Amino acid sequence: MSVSAAATQVGSLLTDQARTVLETTSDGVFILDRDWRFTYLNAAAERFLGRGPGELPGLNIWDEFPLAVEQKFGSEYHRAVRTGVAVTFDESYAPLDTTFEVRAFPDHNGLVVFFRDVNDDRRLRRQQEAHAQLTRAILDSLPAHTAVLDSGGTITSTNMPWDAFGAAAGLDAASWSTGVNYLQVCQRAADAGDRDAAAVIMGLKEVAGGARASFSYDYECSTPDAERWFAVHAVPLLDHEGVIVSHTDITSRVLSERRLRHQAHHDDLTGLPNRRRLLQILAEAMTGQDDATGVAVLLVDLDGFKNVNDSLGHDVGDALLRDVATRLSAVACESDVVARVGGDEFVLVAPDCDGDAATALADRIRASLAKPFDIASMHLPTAASIGIALSRVTGGRPEDLLRDADVAMYTAKARGRDRSQVFSPALGESAHDRLALAAGLRMAVTRGELFLHYQPIICLDSGAVCEVEALMRWNHPERGLLFPGSFIELAEETGVIVPISRWLLAEALRQVAQWSRQGLEVAVAVNIAAQHLSLGTLFDDVSEALGVAQVRPEQLIIELTETDVARDPERSAAQLCALRELGVRVAMDDFGSGYSSLGQLASLPVDVIKIDRSLVKDLGTISAATDVARTIISAVTQIADSLGMATVAEGIETAEQRAAVTELGCTNAQGFLFARPMTAHDLVTSLPLTGTSPSAHAAGGPSC
Ligand code: C2E
Ligand code: MG
Ligand code: MG
Repeated sequence: MSVSAAATQVGSLLTDQARTVLETTSDGVFILDRDWRFTYLNAAAERFLGRGPGELPGLNIWDEFPLAVEQKFGSEYHRAVRTGVAVTFDESYAPLDTTFEVRAFPDHNGLVVFFRDVNDDRRLRRQQEAHAQLTRAILDSLPAHTAVLDSGGTITSTNMPWDAFGAAAGLDAASWSTGVNYLQVCQRAADAGDRDAAAVIMGLKEVAGGARASFSYDYECSTPDAERWFAVHAVPLLDHEGVIVSHTDITSRVLSERRLRHQAHHDDLTGLPNRRRLLQILAEAMTGQDDATGVAVLLVDLDGFKNVNDSLGHDVGDALLRDVATRLSAVACESDVVARVGGDEFVLVAPDCDGDAATALADRIRASLAKPFDIASMHLPTAASIGIALSRVTGGRPEDLLRDADVAMYTAKARGRDRSQVFSPALGESAHDRLALAAGLRMAVTRGELFLHYQPIICLDSGAVCEVEALMRWNHPERGLLFPGSFIELAEETGVIVPISRWLLAEALRQVAQWSRQGLEVAVAVNIAAQHLSLGTLFDDVSEALGVAQVRPEQLIIELTETDVARDPERSAAQLCALRELGVRVAMDDFGSGYSSLGQLASLPVDVIKIDRSLVKDLGTISAATDVARTIISAVTQIADSLGMATVAEGIETAEQRAAVTELGCTNAQGFLFARPMTAHDLVTSLPLTGTSPSAHAAGGPSC
């Protein structure tokens, strides 16, 4: 009998039932006889060992797989046969490039061996471990504290930031870590009234149930010590067997958004609501107003604030605005709102406030602002013009209330400043008139409606006319003769002042040339607006006008106010110096009317100081104000004298005033006492013009 036939005989000892079982199992099974020959292999065994059906039965295992003898296969099979005890081991077999898990059972016929390829299992396990490690590394690397929940809401794992957050917040691990039901924690907070917690529960349940792909929600988690916000974000696990919930600290984002929102609605300098926010506040106040009384809007505009800014600098101006904001807030009631809507414009919104109450409030504001402000070692008095608009009168939208308050405020300014004015429909019409006036002014030059009056300036020593000041007049087609007080400011606001100013130069010099031809040599002083100076063309315009009129530069005096020069000192100084080098004189007009600085007098590039009427008007009377005025005038004349400048006392109406300014050292004077402004014709006929040479006044002031 052949070896293979004998082996087959041993294999045939298996019952059909056992054979069927063995053929269907996925494990490899083979049986060896006591001479190590295969007597049976199931199909899986032949496949694992890489042999065809029926190829191995009858053959010796060590002949067929010689390397295996030296491995556990050799040693363990022999041990099993020798001891009669089953063995179990794992061993790889290089020629087959695989690893087997082996169980061998000895019996008196030989050895029954069960084995299976465990390469795939191991690979799978290794993959699973690597996957788990990767997942954990990703979880831990997330800055947000994150937990994985099962579908019932129980925390199955957490990342390191989660644990760190819990520890930092002093949370008990038992209420915070793996095993705790996250939804139940939220539910307890929701039961205590936390609406955010209720929203989070709903969102998480929807994600877990597949109703939505993700859920995000921002919530506040502030403590008395610190404000904090978090964004909770939930996504389902891939198998929908749970949810990943992360909590990102968004405190800095929320705070910066808040800051931006605040900045968009508030004024940087004072921290008060700005115009945009004011309109919202007004809309809310108008909705909730008591119809019987209504809302009052008080527009507070500081008088002469530009002077403070120009003369004392922007730092002082800013400090003043901040202090004004504080005082206005102190005057306001709790239900009132104070806002800043422009440079020196503040608005106070007073709900349930009628006209009388608003006027009383405006009086309190003015009284509060009248107390001097202590800024940079100075006591600055401040006044304000206040326009009041009432929702009962204006009705309409918040913008309409502000517009009417603006009209009322302008009226208060026009009526002399430092007062309040309640808006009425009649005022609205006059604002309309103002616009019409501005339009007319634009055409006044071309229509020949402007003309000049001339007022003599007297030399106090001799009583002779030494020069004349040109003062503009407007022959309005409907309103008749208008004085500069009613249109110069409007001309400056609307920019018409520059063409008007050029006309003024040409006309004044044309007149001087005509007087020269009549044998009268007189210099003319013209008032130049700040805008003309800022434009930078003053020197060219003056040179051109002198050339066209054929007038010598010495016959022209340019008058500017101190604040005009202070607006842009360097640019002004350059132009004024160039004019003075040409021979034109420069006069500082209205000195003492604003925040004039005696200290700065010496550095002004001017030849003449004109002392304002406000300092002169009390001279000749006995009062404390007179003493102050005398001291100031005396200081100005002394400084001017030492610098070789002339001084003109403005607004002299009485002989006492004339005597006083003469005694105080003024060189020249101007005022109704000597002559009122008059036409060029009247001037020639009524006054004993002496033909004073302009060179009688040596040019003084700091040289350029
Ligand atoms: P100002 O340059 O200080 O001119 C003097 C003003 O005082 C003139 O007023 C004059 O009529 C007035 N006045 C003169 N003596 C007396 C007096 O004894 N008592 C009183 N109460 N007033 C006196 P006016 O003509 O109404 O001009 C007012 C201001 O308008 C001028 O003040 C000047 O700042 C400005 N202005 C006048 N003409 C022009 C101009 O052509 N261009 C520019 N930009 N401004 C001008
Ligand atoms: Mg003047
Ligand atoms: Mg003046």
